[in-house]
Amino acid sequence: MDQSKIDALRAKSVPAFAHLIDGKSVGASDGAVTDIVSPIDGKVLTTAAQGTAADMDAAIASARAAFEDGRWAGQAPAARKKVLIKWADLIDAHALELAVLGVRDNGTEINMALKAEPGSAAATIRYYAESLDKIYGEIAATPSDILGLIHKEPVGVVGAIIPWNFPMMIGAWKLGPALAMGNSVVVKPSETASLSLMRMVELALEAGLPPGVLNAVTGEGAVVGKAMGLSMDVDVLVFTGSGATGRRLMEYAAQSNMKRVYLELGGKSPNIVFADAPNLAQAAQVAAGGIFRNSGQVCVAGSRLLVQASIHDEFVAMVSDASAAMRVGDPLSLDTHIGAINSQPQLDANLGFVETAQAEGGQVVLGGNRILQETGGYYMAPTIVTGVTPDATLAQQEVFGPILGVTPFETEEDAICLANSTVYGLAGAAWTADLGRAHRMVRGVRTGVMHINTYGGADGTVPLGGVGQSGNGSDKSLHALEKYINLKTAWIKL
Ligand code: NAD
Repeated sequence: MDQSKIDALRAKSVPAFAHLIDGKSVGASDGAVTDIVSPIDGKVLTTAAQGTAADMDAAIASARAAFEDGRWAGQAPAARKKVLIKWADLIDAHALELAVLGVRDNGTEINMALKAEPGSAAATIRYYAESLDKIYGEIAATPSDILGLIHKEPVGVVGAIIPWNFPMMIGAWKLGPALAMGNSVVVKPSETASLSLMRMVELALEAGLPPGVLNAVTGEGAVVGKAMGLSMDVDVLVFTGSGATGRRLMEYAAQSNMKRVYLELGGKSPNIVFADAPNLAQAAQVAAGGIFRNSGQVCVAGSRLLVQASIHDEFVAMVSDASAAMRVGDPLSLDTHIGAINSQPQLDANLGFVETAQAEGGQVVLGGNRILQETGGYYMAPTIVTGVTPDATLAQQEVFGPILGVTPFETEEDAICLANSTVYGLAGAAWTADLGRAHRMVRGVRTGVMHINTYGGADGTVPLGGVGQSGNGSDKSLHALEKYINLKTAWIKL
């Protein structure tokens, strides 16, 4: 990648963004816009439409009309596949533009953004495009005078609410399978990272997705997100974000049409290092990346380091060295390892967690402070806190920032007990050369994803979903398609 191309893109002004409803760019019904602030320097980048509940209702009505007249669901699978593949190709063709726009909006460093955002979004859409004509209905085992058929039908209108950490990647995890199954969709990006996803939706229209099949509405969660949650005309709501919002969405569903709600929520994922890990130096490098990449703003971040007591001091020193070597700075520089924190409130919350950790007896052995304040942007040093007790706030609550809490353990049983001692169950890892122990950890730790001798990096072929309060459904893999279909039985007397 060429730094000069990135610099040329960052020098461009960003146009104002509006909703995309019924294939058209439209402003908020009351004309309101909101400033989009870049976390790189704290300056206003552009504006986006500040949506109203009426805007959301219009988008849902457009999606409903598109679904009912079959302009998408009624097309031959091969035709739908062609459009979705063209969309993926357009995302790839615009990858750098999308990545730079996204980084200016949410602060992720550019190397990671390129791979995880347009790169992964295009791959996801292509994956579901390729899958859509390989999904078959079923014939049931019935008496000979009956034909029992199980049809797989699209659900109708899907609402998708997306967080700010990886808007294109997570957006594609929802939009890809929902559209592949023939549904119409309304997407609501996060108010603090909407631009790249809105641009990606524009590209879908350019690829030939019929108007109304995919609509996008910007604005506050408590206004447009709430209107989507309370709608009587959304059939399935898919969400990635915090547990607090997830709870609200379930309440909205109960108060309205009892729509199905699938939640991908937060985590407090344990990274468990045994003294018999095959390569401690490598484990330390990966542990540092597993928490500090994207400033810890990753749902599966390995935010709890559980280390066998016999290697605790040695291993913490290794992780600390590896973390200190990660360069924090301008997210649009190819030399940067860790970019900006997404917003000022998020930075303030992170710093609050450091204070609480210290008040609860933890020792800050690396970082703990805001840095690069002179840029006007929101940056924080990678932070490691040792002596975190199992009941401490840092051991129990998701930070969603660059803070690693370290807790020692003695035995395998202790490690499993500690790992399972939070309300979450999203991801985890164990480092050991003992094959039996590795499998016992996979079975024993309650998570949606368990890594062995690595951390992160699972691709689109496998599901990502949580147990406990980390969620109730999975994105990615063919299993994700199940969220976007209804099963219908045909019971036919012959
Ligand atoms: P958030 O819950 O604050 O916001 C997520 C989305 O919900 C945003 O679009 C927001 O506008 C919307 N929203 C907020 N209030 C709403 C309301 N009352 N009604 C409807 N919508 C509303 O979360 P965030 O801070 O954007 O994202 C960070 C969280 O996402 C973390 O907890 C992280 O772990 C989680 N996350 C989970 C996964 C996963 O796959 N499990 C992936 C990435 C992030």
